[in-house]
Amino acid sequence: MSADEAEPKTDETSETDTSAKRADGPDKLSVFAAKSPLDGSDLGPVQATAPEDVPALARKARDAQQAWANRPVHERAAIIAKVKKRLLSRAEEIATLVHRECGKPVEEAALAEVLPNADLIEYWTASIDELLEGTTVEFDPVAYPGKLGRIHKAPRGLVGLITPWNYPVAIPLRTIVPALLAGNAVLFKPSEVTPRSGALVASFFEGLLPEGLLTLVQGGGDVGGAVIEEADVVVFTGSVATGKRVAVRCAERLIPCSLELGGKDAAIVLADAPLERTANGLLWGAFTNAGQNCASIERVYVERAIADKLIPRIVELTKALRPGLDTAVLTTMKQCDIVRRHLTQAQSDGAEILIGGSPEEGSLAFAPTVVKLEREDTPLMREETFGPILPIVVVDDAKDAIARVNASTFGLTTSIWTRRINHAHDLARTLRSGVVTINNHGFTAAVPAAPWTGTGDSGYGITNSPFALAELTRPQFVLEDRSRAAKELWWYPYTPVLRTIAYAMARLRGGAGFMGRISALFQLIAAFPKRLSGK
Ligand code: NAD
Repeated sequence: MSADEAEPKTDETSETDTSAKRADGPDKLSVFAAKSPLDGSDLGPVQATAPEDVPALARKARDAQQAWANRPVHERAAIIAKVKKRLLSRAEEIATLVHRECGKPVEEAALAEVLPNADLIEYWTASIDELLEGTTVEFDPVAYPGKLGRIHKAPRGLVGLITPWNYPVAIPLRTIVPALLAGNAVLFKPSEVTPRSGALVASFFEGLLPEGLLTLVQGGGDVGGAVIEEADVVVFTGSVATGKRVAVRCAERLIPCSLELGGKDAAIVLADAPLERTANGLLWGAFTNAGQNCASIERVYVERAIADKLIPRIVELTKALRPGLDTAVLTTMKQCDIVRRHLTQAQSDGAEILIGGSPEEGSLAFAPTVVKLEREDTPLMREETFGPILPIVVVDDAKDAIARVNASTFGLTTSIWTRRINHAHDLARTLRSGVVTINNHGFTAAVPAAPWTGTGDSGYGITNSPFALAELTRPQFVLEDRSRAAKELWWYPYTPVLRTIAYAMARLRGGAGFMGRISALFQLIAAFPKRLSGK
């Protein structure tokens, strides 16, 4: 990509037209088109799914799921493992498409949207057999003679997957891969902002899976709503506002949902932090994907003793970033307006812009911006900005920083920058964040063995790691009874002998002292044969 290619347009570049230019009659398929946020070039039309077609697609997916779930796990793993080569061999195609559709640099697209998927597929295909293995429940042979129990991890059935536009390849795959391996079917609706990347994801599985098992549906909130109506579980990644609507509908349908929502991630810089690593790390954590990352650093709390060295270094490094090469353009004009509003309000609330600032009206090229401020009661410090702004607040000490971090309604990830690692671990335990990183930030979403999760407004979903399987499977307990007795002790009829046994057992199991337990034991020895003879 040349700098020229990356030069953003100043018109209505990435506004997606979902206003439905009807292609096939008024109640059938619609087409939505969009322009690249990079240069305004036409990305070509994408056919949307009619919401009323979703139930039939879901039925087909369910039919395919039954047979898929019955296949041995190692067979499913062998099929999904083939996706890795397909994906890696199309690395350039993926990176280029995401670059054009989203506006992030090609390098970023290759590093974030291609390579981690190889780890993802390797991790899940290698571990799924063991992770799905059932466990045995042991029974007391006196109270429950002849009984044996097994807990299986059964697939949920049909997973409704609804995803955002900021990582349009990596995020869907983080659910599709384990969901299929666990024996589910998936109804996948990518964001209407990045439907082409969504289609590319589905294409990696083409010809490998039973027809309909992984079904792509395209469109906006109406199609997302139709997916929820059909699913057995919904895995949603997106904004807090939409997440709440999704959760309400799932509650009404009494189906579980996983919500990975927004963030207002903080970095805490202690006085002894390694200066150069910290400055570079904060820069990347705030500006990668133009800050359109749920784990983007949107607040820095720096201890006074290092602030005078750290802040000028961050400004210097920001100045060296090359627009369009190191930094992305914003993906949508809607997002650009939010970022502009937060910055303008922060300025009125006393924030000082050290470098950067809002672009011209109509441009998506928001420059990386560093801001110094004191007040917390401004949207830039409270709401998710999702843009390339690094707000810095100087604090007295770590205690002050922790209190400010935990005061947020969000709780996705937080980083601590210091040379005192043990101290950082102590601080981590006081943070209300799903992920804490010491001397690094945000990248662990790409690590398949590490749980990615949040608290509060960041949602309660869990992506990656064996914990994610709790969303994609349900425990099914199967009891096997080998007893040949005509009756169980507790079956009819209810008699005084049964009552004596019940009370004696209560005493024997701790309801009485030593002598009481001895007498209960004798009572039981006398009562059991009577009960077995039908009394
Ligand atoms: P969004 O909420 O606008 O849309 C997300 C998805 O929901 C899209 O596919 C959209 O079509 C669909 N949708 C919209 N209305 C719906 C409805 N009523 N029913 C069902 N589906 C509906 O979010 P976005 O702008 O695409 O994504 C950005 C947000 O995602 C940010 O808040 C970001 O922090 C968050 N995010 C979170 C994580 C995480 O892991 N926590 C990761 C990436 C992005």
